[in-house]
Amino acid sequence: MNRFTNQGKIHFPKNKIFRLARRPKKQKSQVVLKECFCPNGHSLIDENMHFCEHPGIKVKVKRNGNDEGFLALSPKFGDYSKITIDIKLKNGDLLEMFCPECNAKLPVYSSCYVCDNQMLTLFTSSEKSYSHCLGVCQKVGCHNSKMVESKRMLYSVAKTCS
Ligand SMILES: [Zn+2]
Ligand SMILES: [Zn+2]
Repeated sequence: MNRFTNQGKIHFPKNKIFRLARRPKKQKSQVVLKECFCPNGHSLIDENMHFCEHPGIKVKVKRNGNDEGFLALSPKFGDYSKITIDIKLKNGDLLEMFCPECNAKLPVYSSCYVCDNQMLTLFTSSEKSYSHCLGVCQKVGCHNSKMVESKRMLYSVAKTCS
């Protein structure tokens, strides 16, 4: 059976009880976001940005309130590779993220329990719902991210590189 709906979400069989604990750990790294939106419903998936064979998530970023550029994130959950355009980032930089199309600022999801900065929200449905979203930490080098689907936190990864 297809694990993903055509919106790129994981498909849960309706008539079966979903048991997260029994999933093999390995599958965490295989979650690939197929859709990602700004608060105004613009797609942030950019076909020109490639992470292996997958198109990346592209946002406009402002670094420490100053320089602006673009950042493409890997659509694979748990993969922290990124591509920067017109900007250099170093660990510890704090980013604000914006939609490249309408400049809408990506809203705060929560505070980051790892580094005390903010988690920013990337919506995984065009409905701008906090029950379908991805939270990423605004601090470069803080690898705290979480994926929320139907109010259930599916995956959470917290790893800070030194
Ligand atoms: Zn937008
Ligand atoms: Zn953090």
